[in-house]
Amino acid sequence: MFYDNDADLSIIQGRHVAVIGYGSQGHAHALSLRDSGVDVRVGLRPDSKSKELAESEGLRVLPVAEAVEEADLIMILAPDHLQRGIYEADIKPNLVEGDALFFGHGLNIRYGLIEPPAGVDVCMVAPKGPGHLVRRQYTAGRGVPVIVAVEQDPSGNAWPLALSYAKAIGGLRAGGIKTTFTEETETDLFGEQAVLCGGLSELIKAGFETLIEAGYQPEVAYFECLHEVKLIVDLMYEGGISKMYWSVSDTAEYGGYSRGPRLVNDQTKAEMKKILGEIQSGEFAKELVAEFEGGQEQMAKYRKEHAEHPIEVTGGKLRPMMSWLND
Ligand code: NDP
Ligand code: MG
Ligand code: MG
Repeated sequence: MFYDNDADLSIIQGRHVAVIGYGSQGHAHALSLRDSGVDVRVGLRPDSKSKELAESEGLRVLPVAEAVEEADLIMILAPDHLQRGIYEADIKPNLVEGDALFFGHGLNIRYGLIEPPAGVDVCMVAPKGPGHLVRRQYTAGRGVPVIVAVEQDPSGNAWPLALSYAKAIGGLRAGGIKTTFTEETETDLFGEQAVLCGGLSELIKAGFETLIEAGYQPEVAYFECLHEVKLIVDLMYEGGISKMYWSVSDTAEYGGYSRGPRLVNDQTKAEMKKILGEIQSGEFAKELVAEFEGGQEQMAKYRKEHAEHPIEVTGGKLRPMMSWLND
């Protein structure tokens, strides 16, 4: 692990940084770099919706090509599926030897969608949390843990540079973990597919469906299968699975130990291994690129089906009654 004492802020303060994109991560990086005394500009497309917001914070906004030309460190924080296009059109033609190219996620490097020239340092500083939390923690004097990786180091100084960047966005207050682009990309994709986004939401939906198909009220099923997930996850986050089992009733604890493994069993794990295999082989990345470049027809279908699911309809009616939810 790396902490603030392991990094030298003056390294990043001596560079000229372009942050490409001003969304969830982009705004957090640009503002915290600036507040750490770093020379920063934001690169956006001409018709950008984010431009006004960045300028209202006092940041300089330039077209991507100009931002890259001015800068000697380029952090790409546009959506992953757009990065290759932005890179080819506006970044690559303006890169010079000695520049550094930074990422917040390894996908485009891991799968060869972006192939930076040999004379450019290639690093990753990826906060393990949503951008708005990254910024909020920074301003509160705290930080969100970051993972740091170096893929290319022609300057011989890529590590101190990456750590200096991580310190400037507050990441080393919480701790930096050394990884590789391959490990970050593959574990990130696996986590979101098998557990966090895919696995968890399907588990919740299947539980909800089982209850309403058996004739129970959708409102009761919603609270039981979705709403309470947060309360359970908070306990796990604070003290591991043990703290959750310590806090729930003995009845819930016994039911969980004895029934859980019947749902998530060898067959589930075999499918997880298959999903991981598709990530490692590049099959998933190929499918993803084809989907995004082919107009996102399947994505539109998934989104529509999901929005119409009864759990979303039920939750849509219940949540406005709980005014404290978005505090
Ligand atoms: P967002 O979807 O929030 O990024 C949107 C931003 O990108 C907007 O400012 C948008 O501007 C800009 N953008 C879109 N197209 C272009 C373009 N052609 N040229 C320049 N800017 C463009 O991205 P995230 O912050 O979610 O993700 C950024 C990176 O960070 C990704 O690599 C992601 O994997 C990684 N990451 C994200 C996390 C998160 O919290 N979301 C967590 C950890 C890593 P416009 O106004 O023009 O639309
Ligand atoms: Mg992730
Ligand atoms: Mg991800």
